[in-house]
Amino acid sequence: MQGADTRYIFVSGGVVSSVGKGITVASIGRLLKARGVSVCIVKLDPYINVDPGTMSPYQHGEVFVTEDGAETDLDLGHYERFIDENLTRASNLTTGAVYSSVIGRERRGDFLGGTIQVVPHITNEIKDRIGRAARQTGAQVVIAEVGGTVGDIECLPFLEALRQMHRELGSERVLFVHVTLLPHVGATRELKTKPTQHSVKELRSIGIQPDVICTRSDYPVPDDIRDKIALFCDVDRRAVIPLETSDTIYDVPLVLERQGLGDFVVERLRLECQPSDLRAWEGLVERSRTVKEEVVIGIVGKYVGLEDAYISVRESLSHAAWAHHRKLSLRFIDAQELERLDEWEHALEGLHGIVVPGGFGYRGVEGKIRAARFAREHGIPYLGLCLGMQVLCIEFARFAFGTEDANSTEFDLFTKYPVIDLLPEQRDVEDKGATMRLGVYPCAVHPGTRASAAYGATIVFERHRHRYEFNNDFREPLQARGLVFSGTSPDGRLVEVAEVRDHPFMVGSQFHPEFKSRPNRPHPLFRDFVAASVVQAGEQLPLEAATDVDVEPSAPRLAA
Ligand code: GLN
Repeated sequence: MQGADTRYIFVSGGVVSSVGKGITVASIGRLLKARGVSVCIVKLDPYINVDPGTMSPYQHGEVFVTEDGAETDLDLGHYERFIDENLTRASNLTTGAVYSSVIGRERRGDFLGGTIQVVPHITNEIKDRIGRAARQTGAQVVIAEVGGTVGDIECLPFLEALRQMHRELGSERVLFVHVTLLPHVGATRELKTKPTQHSVKELRSIGIQPDVICTRSDYPVPDDIRDKIALFCDVDRRAVIPLETSDTIYDVPLVLERQGLGDFVVERLRLECQPSDLRAWEGLVERSRTVKEEVVIGIVGKYVGLEDAYISVRESLSHAAWAHHRKLSLRFIDAQELERLDEWEHALEGLHGIVVPGGFGYRGVEGKIRAARFAREHGIPYLGLCLGMQVLCIEFARFAFGTEDANSTEFDLFTKYPVIDLLPEQRDVEDKGATMRLGVYPCAVHPGTRASAAYGATIVFERHRHRYEFNNDFREPLQARGLVFSGTSPDGRLVEVAEVRDHPFMVGSQFHPEFKSRPNRPHPLFRDFVAASVVQAGEQLPLEAATDVDVEPSAPRLAA
């Protein structure tokens, strides 16, 4: 089932959710990569949706899209950013996906005569899928994170599958990490270990003994607490890893390394590897802490009440800001508020740059169009991501044709100016799940444009998630008025990047560049958008901005 000597690290969470399990997992991946060990990370999500693609961002946060077009959990974004690897659909499995494939096989007759049960059929499917990720990537270590908290009914089949894998492969190839919270009692100024003890007891009751316990806390963890957890939970003293809350998520690998987790893991799994080299990562964290001057960016969206809904956008902006020695000051602006307010311009004042991210549905779209108008008229740098690109085009068309009627047929089926329209291949699509235009497609970048200045390449590959596109009937008239189609599918059929000609930086992409930015390698569009925003802030950027960041040689460049 598994690769010949693949090692596995299984990570569960205890006490409460949101203790930073995803970041811990991503950080363990970074510690291994820093030792030259190849890594793949898999998220096991206990919910019954087949994937998060149909969930509201308010339920689930951002939907992260992989190169191969899977709509996945936002933790995959953290994984990719921390281990600097592209993951695939094999890296996210849900209860829904597992059951639907087992039930599909049952209907086909694969199990004729048998009774299909959680153990062994569902657990086998889970093990097979983890093994598949191992085989496909050939990684030396596969890290699998179980979503939810130990004690949740729906986690059980996953934990049982992991228990079986441990039994089959032995302790030299499987390591269990449990991430818990140490609550702080203000009155006695104490961190409490009891919830951790209970959570470990719960794990043991299903046959899993953790090898490592990472204890998240808002205060330093004294030695006696560490000793106590080691004793009561029966783990090596070295394997109780205090994880105090950091000012930046990118510090977590460094915290874990200092606490000895990297060495413990490679010893315990008997991995032959190089000494750890986290210098580039340290440089990044150092930079994120020393930058002082701010660049103020507004994200105009519908889900601003939950910042997780735009997590990759926020991270991409941070990466770009650090590359330009700036501190990101982010303002979330409710698109529906912009729509409602009479004096809506006030909400946008003081911004050095405006981002309109992806989105679906009519609600808030007029507010986003107002934001695009403000950016165009005031020369404020603007970056449109997917819907944000469509909004840029709608706004430009309203201005160019002198009518408020220009729209997307997503928002007004009967508009006389359907500047954005359904992709032809979407016309007969009825199912909502996994049916958008998804994943990587090539884009030809046209010379002499902002996009071309940013990328410095003629063909780029970017990730998509949309049903609508720019309507080619409007290309010529809008081009004549100064809208530049700077990126298209290589056959010229689909507009992939549009930009406003007479503007410092007003660029929108039909794809989602935010899924490809990495902390040490900001995405070119974000990098140049932030560069333009810094200029907007009235500061002269040093021409060599960011060249001392550990990036690919061609990366830093100012907007043309
Ligand atoms: N709603 C738009 C479409 O489907 C934009 C999608 C998005 O922003 N991801 O084309």
